[in-house]
Amino acid sequence: MTASRSTAASTSPTLHRRSATRLAVMFLALVCLSLAAVQGWGSYSSRATDLREANTSTVNMARALSDHAEASIDLVGTILSSVVERFQAGELGNDRQRFQRFLVSMTQRTPSLQGLHLYDAAGNWVLNSLPATALKGNNADREYFIYHRTHTDLSPRLGNPLRSRFNGVWVLPVSRRLDNPDGSFAGVALATIEIDFFRKFYESFNIGEKGTIFLALDTGSLVVRRPFREKDIGLDISGGPVFTLWKQSGEPTGSAILVARIDHVERLYTYRHLRQYPLLIAVALSKQEVLARWRTDTIASAAGTLILLAALLWLGARMIRQMIQTGQLQRELRDAKTALEANNAALQLLALSDGLTGLANRRHFDQSLDAEFKRAMRDGSPLALVMFDVDYFKKFNDQHGHVQGDAALQMVSRAMLAGQRRPADVAARFGGEEFAMLLPDTEPGGALAVAESIRAAIAAAQFPHGASPFRILTISAGVHSMIPQRGQNARALVEAADRGLYRAKAQGRNSVCAEQLEDASQLEA
Ligand code: GH3
Ligand code: MG
Ligand code: MG
Repeated sequence: MTASRSTAASTSPTLHRRSATRLAVMFLALVCLSLAAVQGWGSYSSRATDLREANTSTVNMARALSDHAEASIDLVGTILSSVVERFQAGELGNDRQRFQRFLVSMTQRTPSLQGLHLYDAAGNWVLNSLPATALKGNNADREYFIYHRTHTDLSPRLGNPLRSRFNGVWVLPVSRRLDNPDGSFAGVALATIEIDFFRKFYESFNIGEKGTIFLALDTGSLVVRRPFREKDIGLDISGGPVFTLWKQSGEPTGSAILVARIDHVERLYTYRHLRQYPLLIAVALSKQEVLARWRTDTIASAAGTLILLAALLWLGARMIRQMIQTGQLQRELRDAKTALEANNAALQLLALSDGLTGLANRRHFDQSLDAEFKRAMRDGSPLALVMFDVDYFKKFNDQHGHVQGDAALQMVSRAMLAGQRRPADVAARFGGEEFAMLLPDTEPGGALAVAESIRAAIAAAQFPHGASPFRILTISAGVHSMIPQRGQNARALVEAADRGLYRAKAQGRNSVCAEQLEDASQLEA
């Protein structure tokens, strides 16, 4: 019972502390994980935002660039139409110089327009916007010329990029067939757009160092690309990633992250097909450049988070270590307390027992007498006391010495313990060679019997006493029993028992006497 209670008392705080430590560890882990998660999520979403914004800007640029290309070609197409009208109105024959002035002024006024040319059915240069000093030539071998000669449709046509025979610049040809009134082939009208016109425009955009813009014919023939390299003009990129994406999706516009075949750079591409012309334009930003700011931001904030995490872990570990140490201290304190309590109990036992005989000492006797007296008073029960005194003990000491005297006292105490009948009885050394026996709930008769049995036991022990008339060690006892009344003092019981003892001594010793008995004969009875 006592053991289980003490176990419970020592286990539950330990368990409590352990779970508190575990909670602290879990809390710390949770805080660190949350911090890492917030950092991770923040970084992930800002990366996604940067990519989304880059995509928006490529989409917008692709629209602007395709509108620009379309408008430029539209304008050239319109001019070409008016050239064809003038040709059909016979202006070549009527006023050739006026017609030429018209071609020159159109070319000068239109930035996208590089030149205007008329060829006859044999491909000879008939009229153009070139200076009068320009050499005559023949363009019958040109791809667009061959096309118009063999096709009767009269709509303007965009040809592959080619190099001008007059000044060697790269141009994009827009051509139309010229018909005689009878519908037979009369020649070709040609307008050329200088590729440099697109290059200059494309270079005005801020697309970073590794960004790219290109314009290509549907056939995959590259018209212009930024960064510009002359050798790229006319390059077939129909098998490249952008064309593949366009052909696969079948959509006029689309975006994707692709790796370019030309320079192997990973970019965010947006392509857009022109509405009316067989041209595809694409704008792309380098993924590395788009994410450059995100990368430095992420490194900085991750470093900050790491420092914070390290500080948290360090502080948390210290806190948990301190919790564990506090637990250990508490355990040690509790152990020390238990040891102290055990010590105290032993000390108390020592303080309450007599060193020589092991009986209750005077202090213990006084406490017991007081407590039992009050209890008897409450219960209305009798309380008996026997006072013993060794006979002729002074003489014993004189004759046998003090060491033997102590042995005699120990013999007496053994007899008293043996005579103790009930657990509540208190056998005590009252002082010197005087002893007392407190007998709760005992009538005078019972007390006399206890006293007499002890006296008889001591006499029967035949402990030699050379100076006693009995020749053995004997003891006298006085007995008193009373039901304590209100206002009475325990001292009354002691004094009454003492008076019995006095009478026993007076009667000749080695006897038991009660105060209230008139003479010894009654006792013997
Ligand atoms: P009586 O029969 O009248 O009691 O004679 P007595 O000599 O015993 O007289 P009293 O009780 O007055 O004497 C007490 C003597 O007991 C005094 C002392 O020599 C001895 N004494 C008291 N305490 C101790 C003790 O602790 N050890 C020893 N050896 N002797 C003690
Ligand atoms: Mg005495
Ligand atoms: Mg004595």
